[in-house]
Amino acid sequence: MADRLFNRVAVVTGAGSGIGLATARRFAAEGARVVAVDIDDAAGTKVAEETGGVYHHVDVTDETAVRELYSKVATDLGSVDISFNNAGISPPEDDSILTTGLDAWERVQKVNLTSVYLCSKYAIERMRAQGRGSVINTASFVAVMGAATSQISYTASKGGVLALSRELGVQFAREGVRVNALCPGPVNTPLLKELFAADPERAARRLVHVPVGRFAEPEEIAAAVAFLASDDASFITASTFLVDGGISGAYVTPI
Ligand code: NAD
Repeated sequence: MADRLFNRVAVVTGAGSGIGLATARRFAAEGARVVAVDIDDAAGTKVAEETGGVYHHVDVTDETAVRELYSKVATDLGSVDISFNNAGISPPEDDSILTTGLDAWERVQKVNLTSVYLCSKYAIERMRAQGRGSVINTASFVAVMGAATSQISYTASKGGVLALSRELGVQFAREGVRVNALCPGPVNTPLLKELFAADPERAARRLVHVPVGRFAEPEEIAAAVAFLASDDASFITASTFLVDGGISGAYVTPI
């Protein structure tokens, strides 16, 4: 694997599982020094060991903890070059607007959107001082298109992540700091596999909309994140970076 990220200090939130885990592995394979962030200590410690990095237990909704995280990383490792702000949730209580209560709405907004505000804020502060950095915030393809199978707070939170990232990308473009919104299509995570194995009809309802004919593997999303983090993406900022197997471009899909 190319050493595109050699010695870069890369914070990955939600590094214990799914897209974050695959990205932490990919970053390490490309030479980065991985800072794994999660609230699942067993998973976080494991990924830090595997990638030769460090683990920090940080709830990304906690401002004091997030501020201290970036401060500690800069002190201990010398810089913050990459921040992949990726931790997010999609709980079953977040469903149609008709049934979703305020508690579920607020919890999802906090974990998916407020966390990205906080991590971007404290990462960019460091990156401006360095005159360089790459922030990648995980949104979703539902930030750009509607689903009749609604998760209303999730969708609204990802729309917020997309707009926030675009604006930050524009604001800091001349200071060497790039900010992009990653918009994955559905990814083959353990949760999704379990859900759709139990309910093949539910899987089929979604799969018919994917031109490629399958869900993404986490490693395919990680490859896009590594690209955005690297200097290969030096002219890419404020982008809506879709990695969706063609979903957002499709009217009729192949049979
Ligand atoms: P996942 O559930 O496999 O992993 C999420 C990780 O985040 C977990 O390790 C969890 O412990 C951690 N986490 C949760 N709350 C946290 C908090 N408050 N502080 C710190 N860490 C916390 O999820 P995933 O499927 O890999 O999704 C990662 C991101 O990608 C999310 O933002 C999700 O919305 C987005 N996304 C996922 C898909 C998909 O199909 N899986 C599609 C589009 C976007």
